[in-house]
Amino acid sequence: MLAGDGQKGDLETAVSHTQAAGLPSQLLSPDELAVLDPRMVLDGVAAASFTPGAGYADPALTTQAFAGAARRLGVEIRQGTKVVRLLRDGEKVVGVETAVSTLHAPIVIIAAGSWSGNLLRTARLDLPLQPVRHPVVCLRRPPEFGTPHHSLLDLTGGIYARPETGDLTLLGSVDANVGYDPIQANDTGGYVHESYILWALTQLTQRYPSLETSQLLPGWTGVMTITPNWQPIIGGWPDAPGLFCAVGFSGQGFQISPAVGKLLAELVTGSRDAASQLAPFAPTRFATATQHPQHTGENHSLLR
Ligand SMILES: Cc1cc2nc3c(=O)[nH]c(=O)nc-3n(C[C@H](O)[C@H](O)[C@H](O)COP(=O)(O)OP(=O)(O)OC[C@H]3O[C@@H](n4cnc5c(N)ncnc54)[C@H](O)[C@@H]3O)c2cc1C
Repeated sequence: MLAGDGQKGDLETAVSHTQAAGLPSQLLSPDELAVLDPRMVLDGVAAASFTPGAGYADPALTTQAFAGAARRLGVEIRQGTKVVRLLRDGEKVVGVETAVSTLHAPIVIIAAGSWSGNLLRTARLDLPLQPVRHPVVCLRRPPEFGTPHHSLLDLTGGIYARPETGDLTLLGSVDANVGYDPIQANDTGGYVHESYILWALTQLTQRYPSLETSQLLPGWTGVMTITPNWQPIIGGWPDAPGLFCAVGFSGQGFQISPAVGKLLAELVTGSRDAASQLAPFAPTRFATATQHPQHTGENHSLLR
C-alpha cells in the first residue's frame, strides 16, 4: 500500500492496527520499498506498507468452499430460489416469501449484496445502500517485466493492481470519484470505458514504466454496494426482532467475509462480545442520518 504525504499518518495507524491484530505488516520507507521492487518509480510516495504472505484468493472457489462447509453442517442451499419479500408479524420478522413458497423462520439474515436494499424495503426498512458499477481493466504484462509485481494499492494514484495467473494484471480505481457510478441493483450491463482504461493505465505506468508495452485484454464490470462511510452494515434492528443483515461492503466484503460470517453467527446466537465488536457497523447508526452515499471527492476509507 503506497501513501503520499497526506496519507502517511493514516497508513501508520492502519499498520499498527494490523500488527495489533497479529499480521506481520511492516511500514517501509521509499528506500526500503525500492529494494523490495526496483522496477517501481516512487515519485510522490512518502511511506508504504508491506504484508509478507498477503495476496489474493479465488472468490468463486471460496464461495463454493463456504457452501460445501455449510452443507456438511446440515444447511440446505436452494440455489435459484428468489426471495421476493420479507414476512412481518407486527414488528417481528417471521420468514420470507420466495418465488415458489413461503418459509417461516425465527431468524432471517439479509446478505443479498446489491439487492439487499430492495429486499429490506419489503419490510419497510430503509438503509443508505447505493449500488455502483465498478470496471476492471485487464492487461497481459510483457515477458521482459519478469516476476509478477506485488498486489498493489496505490493511494497516491488512486489505483489497485494485482497479478493474476497467465502474466495478467487486474487494475482498477480506489478513487471514489472514478469508476464507482451509481446504478440500479438490476442494471448489470456496462462497459469499461476508454477514458477509464487510459486513466488507470496512466496511473499504473507512472509507477511501473516497464508495463507500458503490456497488451490490453477485455476487462469487465461488476456491481458493488457502497454506504455513506464505505463501511459495511452488519447487525440487527431493535424494532424488527428476528432480522439481521450483512450488507453494504463497499468493495471490501470478500477479504473480511470469514470474520463477518463468524461474528454474525455469534451475534445471532446471543454473544455479547460479538455485539460489542459489531457495534460500529450496526444498521441503527443510520437511524438519524439517512442520507444516501455521496461522492465526497476523497479516497474512500480503505485505511480505516
Ligand atoms: C469488480 C469488483 C472487484 C471487487 N474486488 C474486491 C476485492 O478485491 N476485495 C474485496 O474484499 N472485495 C471486493 N469486491 C467486493 C466483493 O465482491 C463484495 O463485497 C462481496 O461479494 C459481497 O458479498 P455478499 O455475499 O454480501 O454479496 P454478493 O456476493 O453480491 O452475494 C449476494 C448473493 O445474494 C443472492 N441474492 C440476491 N438477491 C436475492 C434474492 N432476492 N433472493 C435470493 N438470493 C438473492 C445473489 O444471487 C448472490 O448470490 C469487489 C467487487 C467487484 C464488483
